[in-house]
Amino acid sequence: MTVQDAPAPADLAATDDIGWAVRLLAATPTHEHRDPELLRRWARAADAYGAALAPVECTARIVESDGGLALGLLARYTSRPPTVELFTDTIGLAERVVDARGWRAWYPPGSIRAAALAHEAVHVHLHHGPGRTALKRALGHSALRLGRLRVPGHVAGAEEVAAHAHARTVCGLGRSPLLLTAALAAETETAPPPAPDARREN
Ligand SMILES: [Zn+2]
Repeated sequence: MTVQDAPAPADLAATDDIGWAVRLLAATPTHEHRDPELLRRWARAADAYGAALAPVECTARIVESDGGLALGLLARYTSRPPTVELFTDTIGLAERVVDARGWRAWYPPGSIRAAALAHEAVHVHLHHGPGRTALKRALGHSALRLGRLRVPGHVAGAEEVAAHAHARTVCGLGRSPLLLTAALAAETETAPPPAPDARREN
């Protein structure tokens, strides 16, 4: 779950959750020249997939630390060994941003930590199970066709959109955590960019 991207318009909440998902995809390498309508279709499909996913228990080890603001991260999943890191400094800033923007009805107290866990649990789930193929099928992007056989292709960023939609749904949030990551980016945009390797599997 990255603190990220995109120059922020004044009223971030005026862009709906699918709109933020489209921005996330558009800012993801390999999508620079994609048709915006295709990106919107993928955003909707990934959002619907994540929202419909049954709650997944986080089977990874959970560790909490600060240092997330320096990395530009709220939480991240690393696979060897399976570990979810929650960054308490970024979560604390997110809680303050929710109050400052008057978004408490959308993100109740404590929901940011819960959302981060739900989000990372999707990465764990997709990393270890057949879910990744199911997500590819839901997106309907074909990497190649072999006669009548279509091989589902990878859509960069789609897993991230699905994880946010899942967190929104299972935590009962009024808006996607994606909106919150945009607000965090606006707060921290004077901070140095995160280290390149910090963005992997987040
Ligand atoms: Zn993520």
